[in-house]
Amino acid sequence: MWFAVNIYGNMYKMVSVDITGRHIISPTGDAPKGWKYCPDCVKNWPERSHHCPLCDVCVLKRDHHCFFAGYCVGYHNHRYYVAMVFYISVAAIYGNIFNFEFVRDVKGELGIWGILSFLLPHVGFLFGGDDFYVTGITMLTFIGFYCSSCFFGYLEFR
Ligand SMILES: [Zn+2]
Ligand SMILES: [Zn+2]
Repeated sequence: MWFAVNIYGNMYKMVSVDITGRHIISPTGDAPKGWKYCPDCVKNWPERSHHCPLCDVCVLKRDHHCFFAGYCVGYHNHRYYVAMVFYISVAAIYGNIFNFEFVRDVKGELGIWGILSFLLPHVGFLFGGDDFYVTGITMLTFIGFYCSSCFFGYLEFR
């Protein structure tokens, strides 16, 4: 529950703040040094602002458009985004530990074949005699491992 509250709370804050620079009084006329003109917004914006074609607005210090939240990540909500990804990563480890123990219980002792059929669940189903139930559990657990490694990759390499 604690993880869920933190993940969804940060996600809610992320999509509910104003990411644009509407409060900024931008200079009219030719863009001054450090500012740039956006032809879509018909307005001058500060440095490092970028126009998002999906949100159709210029976002201050735009990082990327988050497809999970359906909202841009920028100057005003980057803090919530990083906190959300952090809590997702920790929750993923927590879930994966329990999942992995369950897979070991179901599959028995993990030898070479057990590890191979964990990394390639469909091979275990086609050639190893794993039944549908075991294959489904193994596949879900593998997807969990894969997703958490993606979230960790984000935290590590940003
Ligand atoms: Zn724009
Ligand atoms: Zn966007």
